[in-house]
Amino acid sequence: MNCLECNKELGYQDHRNSMETLGLELCTAHQKRMHKLIELNDTPIEAIQLYYGLKNAGVNAMLEWWDGKKSVDIAISRVKLNIEIDTKYHMMTHEQAINDLEEAMHSFKNGFTTIRIPHVLIKHYLKETVNNILGIMEGLKANIKVI
Ligand SMILES: [Zn+2]
Repeated sequence: MNCLECNKELGYQDHRNSMETLGLELCTAHQKRMHKLIELNDTPIEAIQLYYGLKNAGVNAMLEWWDGKKSVDIAISRVKLNIEIDTKYHMMTHEQAINDLEEAMHSFKNGFTTIRIPHVLIKHYLKETVNNILGIMEGLKANIKVI
């Protein structure tokens, strides 16, 4: 059991705390960093889990990337892909829906594609979610080449 970020070996207590609060294997220092990120940006735990899922698949992503207007949960800048994790999927109001659409419009204008992923998907289908994102990245890469 080693830290996913720095590869430091984890003690029993460290491992237990980390799995209980984040569902990921992180050392004390990196747990602290993630809790700070959550506190500052209201980052969903699933965004952090997806970030490490992508990292494990060799994808260089950024957590809580500031796009000039708002903080994006995960950004993969190489293919201009933004990923937002929806945590209130079942309670979406029309105000939220129009806000999401407007955000998507702004992203597209800047050449970014935004996808929204319900948090439950990461909980139950992390591997499949990562595979689909890899496919989306390939598609975006192909489009960039055409331009
Ligand atoms: Zn660490």
